[in-house]
Amino acid sequence: MRFISLAFLLFLQIAVKAQTSEYFVIVTIDGVRWQEVFGGVDSTMMSAKNYQHLKKQFDAQSGIEKANLLMPFLHQQLKPNGVLLGNRTENSLVEVANPYWFSYPGYNEIFTGYPDSAINSNDKFYNPNVSFLEVLSKQAAFKNKIAVFGSWDRFSYILNDKRSGLLVNDGFRNLEGNLNDFQKLLNQQQHELPKLFHDAERLDYVTFYHALEYLKKDKPRVLVIALGDTDEFAHSSQYDFYVEAIHQSDKWLKILWNYIQSDKQYKNKTTLLITTDHGRGAIEDKGWIGHGSGTKGSNEIWFAAIGPSAKLFESDSKIYQAQFAATIMKALGMKYTVNHTYYKEITK
Ligand SMILES: [Zn+2]
Repeated sequence: MRFISLAFLLFLQIAVKAQTSEYFVIVTIDGVRWQEVFGGVDSTMMSAKNYQHLKKQFDAQSGIEKANLLMPFLHQQLKPNGVLLGNRTENSLVEVANPYWFSYPGYNEIFTGYPDSAINSNDKFYNPNVSFLEVLSKQAAFKNKIAVFGSWDRFSYILNDKRSGLLVNDGFRNLEGNLNDFQKLLNQQQHELPKLFHDAERLDYVTFYHALEYLKKDKPRVLVIALGDTDEFAHSSQYDFYVEAIHQSDKWLKILWNYIQSDKQYKNKTTLLITTDHGRGAIEDKGWIGHGSGTKGSNEIWFAAIGPSAKLFESDSKIYQAQFAATIMKALGMKYTVNHTYYKEITK
């Protein structure tokens, strides 16, 4: 009897260990609707507007076919080996817990695990809440081993780099430190490329390749890549560019994951989580252009995970983005303890 229970305990220990990750990569794609993730492009938009080039590339008979065309990495490479949740047509529910349904409150919720109702604007203010990244960075094993790259210049505020000391490269800030030629070129290019959006948001091209190059060169234990083209194009009513930005983000995910799985250090020890900060409204009433508590459905989100800890993100019940922080900590074999309330990890 004693032997059996010892053997069982050992089995449990091995099972838990098998689900932990040494490395974690988080990619957020701002304001991407679950409707496009699981159903592909909206066919009425393709016919109604002058989007013939997109219709040819992304339109099809069924939602599944269209989703495969729009995000082939997510559906063909990730899903069979990972977790992809938030398809409301299959009653898979992933939601925002904060009451605002826009970016700063959303990223605060993701990174602190706390849907703080006092975080109610996108203004430039240093977040009083501590993120799981800040908690991790105080551990010797993670010190100077965490990096955040964001297209929007608010990430340094959301993660309070002044207090936390985290490396946050966002907006049009140049990456500093010992740089190679490609990193220097990216620093230069971000000022030469057209400023398509506004002073606070650079193009994702720069953010993604800065992050990927840093990953290859400096080998962080935790990396965050926060993309934003999708939300910006939607806000300017350019459904065509919104769709193309989703497709491009999926291509970058493939490049990122293929690198991770080709690198000796990262291979089979790294979990990748992909999600969004909020949803958007319906196509019918042009709700897709915006989001916020006045736009029905923009609290509805989705996420995907692949890697050794992907199973920790699986659940049959409704999941809130506030649960990611504690779940990621668990995936890294750490306990999330912080001086504010937070949502517990995802449970099956
Ligand atoms: Zn937005």
